[in-house]
Amino acid sequence: MPLAFKHTVTERFLRYVVIDTQSDPASTTCPSTEKQKKLGRLLEAELRALALADAHLDEHGYVYATIPANTDKKVPVICFCSHMDTSPDCTGANVRPQIVKNYRGGDIVLPADRSQVIRVAEHPELANQIGNDIITTDGTTLLGADNKAGLAEIMDAAEFLIRNPQIKHGTIKILFTPDEEIGRGVDRVDLKKLGADFAYTMDGETAGTIEDETFSADGATITIQGVSAHPGFAKGRMEHAIKIASAIIDRLPKDTCSPETTEGREGFLHPTGINGALESATIHLIVRDFNEQGLKQKEALLESIVQDVMKDYPRSTYKIAVKPQYRNMKEVIDRHPEIIDYAVEAIRRAGLKPVKSSIRGGTDGSRLSAMGLPCPNIFAGEHAFHSRLEWVSVQDMEKAAETIVHLAMIWEERA
Ligand SMILES: [Zn+2]
Repeated sequence: MPLAFKHTVTERFLRYVVIDTQSDPASTTCPSTEKQKKLGRLLEAELRALALADAHLDEHGYVYATIPANTDKKVPVICFCSHMDTSPDCTGANVRPQIVKNYRGGDIVLPADRSQVIRVAEHPELANQIGNDIITTDGTTLLGADNKAGLAEIMDAAEFLIRNPQIKHGTIKILFTPDEEIGRGVDRVDLKKLGADFAYTMDGETAGTIEDETFSADGATITIQGVSAHPGFAKGRMEHAIKIASAIIDRLPKDTCSPETTEGREGFLHPTGINGALESATIHLIVRDFNEQGLKQKEALLESIVQDVMKDYPRSTYKIAVKPQYRNMKEVIDRHPEIIDYAVEAIRRAGLKPVKSSIRGGTDGSRLSAMGLPCPNIFAGEHAFHSRLEWVSVQDMEKAAETIVHLAMIWEERA
């Protein structure tokens, strides 16, 4: 049964994207940028205007709110979660959204920088958007559909549930986080205060997708201690740490096991930083795979490369430190198959074909799952995120809002 929805998702979205909420990995504060709180305050005010009395922005930049249950059944508490920040990789100041109404196909040239073209050849998803209204930037900034589409969808669904009390649901929690793009989205989340049994991030790409798997991720740091000597008198003595580090990088697999040569379920080793001088050098890498065993294999390969290189430098030493970053959420989510089953059913009821998939990255949900709050990722409709070609369609956002409402109804029906 289609819902009698009078959507507010687009007007909300256009209101949120013009607020610059770029996060900053170099900052040590939480939120990393104070400007994220500007959007947080707006969301708090909008939630309060919907009569959600407990809605509040906390001192760390998180927004919490509760839609009270309106059923006598004992229904698990479900949370919907999106992030307020945008990526540091692309500017998010002075976003000027444009709407291509009733898209007829073809490439979309962005008006303020005509070198920026969303080409069908590079964005095949455009082919499924004929007749839809597509929101883009003017070509000079990112759009911020990642993840302001999610915020707007959750707000739209919240308003619908409040205005339609005949639709029965359990307690629904809303959580908006700062700093997801710099990997700190759940650092200061208060799970006790949130009080949810299960959660869904609304931060996925194509309409209809539900993602229950993410990478498992480690960080590795290699520290090399070389042997210094005066360059005029170094023959037979010097062992140059920069050259050792370079040899290690050079021996990393080239045709496999790197971001630029892998896809699907393949993992990789990826250097993210290197610094050094004659006496010592440090290499930072990230290690990614979908399972623990794959991570361990890649870390063993890395260590064997280092050992092999070090054979040529007998008086130099090295250390490898491996630190866990996040874990594939699948193991946690598989213990509660209904989380995915209900989402699949909700997507179907919203009139879409459900597609289960996995994320070659992490989400707030990977860490929330590891912290004990199972949290898969549902589509928000965002495409080409972290770039000036970012786009989202009005119709996909509306479907996402409807999916949220159906999901709330299904949890109540099945309780
Ligand atoms: Zn995101």
